[in-house]
Amino acid sequence: MSRTFSFEFFPPKTPEGVEKLRAARDALARLAPKFFSVTFGAGGSTRDRTLETVLEIQAQGLTAAPHLSCIGSSREGIRELLNTYRSHGIRHMVALRGDLPSGMVGVGEFNYANELVAYIRETTGDWFHIEVAAYPEVHPQARNYETDLQHFAGKVKAGADSAITQYFFNADGYFRFVDEAMKRGIDIPIVPGIMPINNYMQLARFSDACGAEIPRWLRKKLESLGDDTASIKALGLDVVTDLCARLLGGGAPGLHFYTMNQAGPTLEIWRRLGL
Ligand SMILES: Cc1cc2nc3c(=O)[nH]c(=O)nc-3n(C[C@H](O)[C@H](O)[C@H](O)COP(=O)(O)OP(=O)(O)OC[C@H]3O[C@@H](n4cnc5c(N)ncnc54)[C@H](O)[C@@H]3O)c2cc1C
Repeated sequence: MSRTFSFEFFPPKTPEGVEKLRAARDALARLAPKFFSVTFGAGGSTRDRTLETVLEIQAQGLTAAPHLSCIGSSREGIRELLNTYRSHGIRHMVALRGDLPSGMVGVGEFNYANELVAYIRETTGDWFHIEVAAYPEVHPQARNYETDLQHFAGKVKAGADSAITQYFFNADGYFRFVDEAMKRGIDIPIVPGIMPINNYMQLARFSDACGAEIPRWLRKKLESLGDDTASIKALGLDVVTDLCARLLGGGAPGLHFYTMNQAGPTLEIWRRLGL
């Protein structure tokens, strides 16, 4: 089985951000990833910028995969967006529930990502390759491990083709999740999401919000480095390269890098892995 490598961007807000993203995209394009995905802000807040970013990637002859979250949306709004992507020849998509932005009330016409996947299949058949999210360390709102896994299975049953995980630093949790999924008949590729470590405070904030565990030894080590960014980056490269090597060595079907719109850390991990 060939492995799948992909890189994730967020839609930039400023002209400088747009330039920075172009430079990162061009540098990472040399690694010939299967696709570049572009996130979708909570509640559709980046709808137009996600579309623009996706179209610019596609215009470079690269494959772009928009993320699409359904919470707070109507069926009509989602159908319009699917048609827009389709009319531009986009065939890859990351389908999510998303989170409601604070202050927003009413979930709209979709409650969970499996309903979005089913709706995409219902309205556009097999046009899109659909990725969904997976949580080896359990989604923060899930009742327990088993129900979360069943909900993951529900997205696969609704028509997902492959999955990308939330980032994690514990390879064993990933392998267990893949085993448990296989035992339940889930046979789609589950690609690990990889978060390079550049900034400890930012990483700690993200991890607390999304339920990704930073192992205690790593947290302590990063904390002890204070604002010595060079040492944090050096430690991060060692730890994340080692994680990627373990994942690929153990049979992971590829890697999806959360690049944070920076090429440097991903390029260096790639070089060290000898990919
Ligand atoms: C690879 C990846 C990319 C992401 N990209 C974005 C992005 O671009 N924009 C963004 O806003 N967020 C993004 N997120 C975050 C994601 O939107 C949040 O984690 C969100 O809280 C859950 O989305 P989901 O699609 O996994 O939801 P779901 O699969 O719907 O699961 C959400 C929760 O509901 C539970 N659940 C699922 N189905 C049911 C059901 N039928 N009944 C009861 N409970 C159920 C699950 O166990 C889980 O706890 C991304 C996450 C990942 C891993």
